[in-house]
Amino acid sequence: MKLTELLSGIENCSCGRTHPCPIKHVIIEDGAIGRLSEIADGYKNILIIADNNTYRAAGERVASALGDRVYDTLIFPDKLLVPNECAIEKINGRISEGCDLIVGIGSGVISDLAKYTSYTHSLPYYIVATAPSMDGYASVGAALILGGMKVTENAHVPEAIIADTSVLREAPMDMIIAGYGDIIGKYSCLNDWQLAAIVRDEYICKTVLSETFEAVERTRGAIKGILERCPEAIATLTEALISVGILMAYVGNSRPASGSEHHLSHYFEIVGIERGERYLSHGLDVFYSSLVTAKIREELAELFESEKEILPAEFEGDYGEKIRRIYGRSAEGVLKLQEKLGFYSERGERVAIYSERRKEIARLLRKAPSYREVEEMLYEAGLSPKDFVKLYGEEKIRDGVLYSKDLKDRYTVLWAYTDIKR
Ligand SMILES: [Zn+2]
Ligand SMILES: [Zn+2]
Repeated sequence: MKLTELLSGIENCSCGRTHPCPIKHVIIEDGAIGRLSEIADGYKNILIIADNNTYRAAGERVASALGDRVYDTLIFPDKLLVPNECAIEKINGRISEGCDLIVGIGSGVISDLAKYTSYTHSLPYYIVATAPSMDGYASVGAALILGGMKVTENAHVPEAIIADTSVLREAPMDMIIAGYGDIIGKYSCLNDWQLAAIVRDEYICKTVLSETFEAVERTRGAIKGILERCPEAIATLTEALISVGILMAYVGNSRPASGSEHHLSHYFEIVGIERGERYLSHGLDVFYSSLVTAKIREELAELFESEKEILPAEFEGDYGEKIRRIYGRSAEGVLKLQEKLGFYSERGERVAIYSERRKEIARLLRKAPSYREVEEMLYEAGLSPKDFVKLYGEEKIRDGVLYSKDLKDRYTVLWAYTDIKR
C-alpha cells in the first residue's frame, strides 16, 4: 500500500477494526516546502520553532513559503537542544493569544517539542522534517526529559508532515543511517508482536503487520541509494519512517514499531543518562540491538526445535537489588511497574505455552533475520558490531538482555529468553 493510501485509513479491516488515519497531509517530494503556502492556507498567526542547524537547513524556505502569516520565529541557539522544562517554557513564552499554528522545523527534538507544546495549547502543528532519522514524526507520543528523566508524554500527531527530499538528503549521514537502523529494527519487533499473539493472545492486525514488513523490505533494498543520498532512496526511507507512525496509529499502540530491540535501546539511553555514560543515537542503538535480539531468537529457536524439556528459570539473587544496581534513581519506577504488571508471576503459564506450541514458536523465531543477516546489514550500512561491544562492554549488554524488558509493560522475546531455564 502506498503512503497516500494509508492516509485514507482502512475501513472494516480483516482484524475486525476500522483504522482511521489522523494525519491530514504528508508530502514527500523534492520542493515539498514550497507546498506549505497552499496547505497552511487557513492559518494567519503562525509560530515557527527550530534550532540553529535545522533553521539553516530549511528555515529560510519555510519562512518565505509562509510569508507574513508568521508572527514569530523561535530559534534555539543550543548546540545540543534537550527537550526539557526549559525548552518547553521558552516555546510557551512565544505562543501568543492569537497563535493558530505551530510549525516545527527539525527532526527528533524539535518534533517532540512542537508536538508537546501544541498539544498542551490545543493547537495544531506541522513538522518540516530535516533528517530521515527516526520514526516519531507521525506518532502521538512526545519523548521528553522531565525532572531529569526520559518520559513519553501523551500528545498528538501533526496535521501535516513536510518532507522535502532536497533537505533530507543533505542531513548528516549518521542521522540517515540512524533512520535506516530504526527501520531495520522492525524485523525484530514484528517478530515480537507475533510471539505475543501466540504466547499472550495479544491483538494483532495482519494487514498492519504486512504493511510494516513491506515498508521495511523496500527500505532494505534501497540501502545503496541511501548511502549515496539518492533522492528516490531517501524518499523510500522517509516514507517508511512516516508509514510506520501511521501504522502505529492504526492499531493504537507501538507494536508495529517497537519491541525487544527498542527496549534494549531505551535501556542504553536511560542507563547512559543515569550514569553520565555515552550512548548512541536512537536508531543506531536500535540497529545494533537488533543483532542482540537476533542472537537470542536463534538460541531459543534451537532449544524449541530440540527434544529438551522446557523448564521455568529460577531467579537467582535479589531482584530489587539487581534493578537498583542497574537503574539507580529510576529503579523504584521500574520495580513499581513490574509489581503492577505481574509478568514475573505469570512465568509458569508462559512456560506451559512454550512447551505446548514449541514447534510453532520455533518457526516464528526462525522467520526473523538471522544473526549473520543482521550483521551483514550493519556492515552494509558501514557499521561494525565490534564498535558496539567496545562502547558498552559485555556486562552492560548482558544486563540489558536480562533487565531492559523490566522498563516496559510489553511482552517480547526478552521475556521468553529469561523465562526459560537454559
Ligand atoms: Zn486491522
Ligand atoms: Zn525507534
